[in-house]
Amino acid sequence: MKLFAFTKTTDIADAIKEATSAAASPQGAKAKYIAGGTTLLDLMKLNVEEPGTLVDINKLPLDKIETTRDGGLKIGAMVKNADLASHPFVKSQFPVLSEALLSGASAQLRNMATTGGNLLQRTRCVYFRDTAFACNKREPGSGCPAIEGENRTLAVLGTSDSCIATNPSDMNVALMALEATIVINGTGGEREVPINDFYLLPGSTPHLENVLKPGELITHVVVKGLPAGSKSMYLKLRDRASYEFALASAAVIVQMEGGKFSRVRIALGGVGTKPWRSLEAEKFLTGSAVNEANFRKAAEEALHAARPQSQNKFKVELAKRCLTHTLKLVSS
Ligand code: SF4
Repeated sequence: MKLFAFTKTTDIADAIKEATSAAASPQGAKAKYIAGGTTLLDLMKLNVEEPGTLVDINKLPLDKIETTRDGGLKIGAMVKNADLASHPFVKSQFPVLSEALLSGASAQLRNMATTGGNLLQRTRCVYFRDTAFACNKREPGSGCPAIEGENRTLAVLGTSDSCIATNPSDMNVALMALEATIVINGTGGEREVPINDFYLLPGSTPHLENVLKPGELITHVVVKGLPAGSKSMYLKLRDRASYEFALASAAVIVQMEGGKFSRVRIALGGVGTKPWRSLEAEKFLTGSAVNEANFRKAAEEALHAARPQSQNKFKVELAKRCLTHTLKLVSS
């Protein structure tokens, strides 16, 4: 691990100032915020992340879960994954979010990991995490050995010739279905970004994963209240029952009236280079009868653009079955 400067603050503006000035320093020392550290510390030990400055934000006043007037949530970026998952209002009104959080990592990690950190989880692509290999995401222009190599767990949607890495988070998939808004603060003030616009597709610049600018800090995640009668669910398929990343997962929110779907939101995990919102499946299902044939047709729509690699063709059918089964369970 390389040497780095370390600073702590209890003030949001100070944290942003520290990180922004470090990022702009003549040495080009990259600044990173550290909260739970459940991803960042691992990657620093592997020399994948080499920040010149770490700004500890654990004492920032961003640890509240607030309910909003429209029946939604305002979640502080420092809220621990375990606290968010077990919050009574989250469990009763947004089960998809609670279930996604509880399906991720281990109890110990969920006690440390934060909402803001989870949004910024890095991929588990083995080449990204091993500096002995080239990797366009780690070192732009160096190549992507995964395309001809180990790609069983990697993405089939949103890939490019430069990168096929999967976004590993479960929480982000639920937040995508919930159409969350990410609140970001920086030296230029506060801005709000819909989660679907927050993540970038790899294209020819896979090292750019989101729209955060140097020094910007995620402060909150806002989720609007769901229409009355909504039902939601998160289902995750993986190689083992716990402490494992998704091979395929589905976050589904539905409203039904008279045997038909009146409102549908669908996001997929484990298969996309970003948490994958499926507008095609939503469009197909809205107004369609609630039956198994339509669940499967929606899943076909959701995966129609899949571009699998040599080892992950199975993910296309797995994701279809995952979505089909989630639709069946949530609508029963
Ligand atoms: Fe790197 Fe992406 Fe290729 Fe993995 S898939 S080796 S993260 S460029």
